[in-house]
Amino acid sequence: MDTPFLSLVVPVYNEEAVLLQSYRRIKKAVADINAEIIFVDDGSVDQSSTILENLAEHDPATRVLMLSRNFGHQQAVTAGLHYARGQAVIVIDADLQDPPELIPALVQRWQEGFDVVYGIRQSRAGESWFKRISARWFYRILRGMSDVEIPLDVGDFRLLSRRVVDVLNAMPEHHRFLRGMAAWAGFKQIGVEYARSPRAAGQSKYPLRRMWRLSIDAITGFTVAPLRVGTRLAGLVALVAMGGSAWLIYQKLHAPTGLVLGWTSIMVTMLWLGAMQLFVLGMIGEYVGRVVEQTRGRPLFIVAKALNLQPPKDVVRHDLRKTPGGIRP
Ligand code: UDP
Ligand code: MG
Repeated sequence: MDTPFLSLVVPVYNEEAVLLQSYRRIKKAVADINAEIIFVDDGSVDQSSTILENLAEHDPATRVLMLSRNFGHQQAVTAGLHYARGQAVIVIDADLQDPPELIPALVQRWQEGFDVVYGIRQSRAGESWFKRISARWFYRILRGMSDVEIPLDVGDFRLLSRRVVDVLNAMPEHHRFLRGMAAWAGFKQIGVEYARSPRAAGQSKYPLRRMWRLSIDAITGFTVAPLRVGTRLAGLVALVAMGGSAWLIYQKLHAPTGLVLGWTSIMVTMLWLGAMQLFVLGMIGEYVGRVVEQTRGRPLFIVAKALNLQPPKDVVRHDLRKTPGGIRP
């Protein structure tokens, strides 16, 4: 197998409805490029794996990585990045929401000297009002909290140069927010605008619960600002307490005897303080939980089957013992 110039990493989870169509469109878009396509089957339970096996059998430039179960989108892409052997790697969804026709434009920017060329979603057709608004706000809040300049309205559709892929592969974190990690890597980065199409077929595999999880991963992965909320709240509460105590003492001294200050004020104070304490505890829990998971040092993904693929040993230029994720069949 000669070293391909470009690798395409396509995460697949129950995409039987679009898989062939995306394969054809991607293949057409890279017809003039020496490219390998790595489909990462993230534990699909529909016909996706059978379709992929057929494709791999007929096209040696199509590689298939089957994970042992559903590890999630970020992990599936991570697996593909470990196995990709190209000088540049493009991550693209299987549902044709990211237009394969943009690939040559990404490659061109890379050849001009950029290490990361990300797609900027200029518009998002066919996505719910809620998804668009929440995504819009989420990226802006994250940017406000974090020191890393994570570009706005950008997903995982992007080109990464070999050295950036090597950096990502050397980052051992379990809870991965790849677009943030790529921004963290640095080098020269640039965006290319595109119109995000609706899904070609099938349904989104990112329900609210998963979006929420990804957002928490992004926040905990890129800032410790929430951990400081406790200190700030404490300052605020202390101020209120000082004013309140002075007022209460004044009341006690000057009020007619026998006046009992209200149940209401006690309840209101207690409820608010309780809520704030739980909130801060919950946030600490998010971070502590991640520390626990990270110290277990489990691999990031497990490969059950690899078709037309060589083990990643020859491309992963870092110490695999320190970076889990290199488990091979
Ligand atoms: N995906 C995956 N594992 C998952 C969920 C999704 O590999 O657990 C893949 C999915 O097949 C698609 C891409 O990740 O190629 C993006 O998922 P989806 O289109 O459902 O997300 P959305 O575009 O709705 O945010
Ligand atoms: Mg999609």
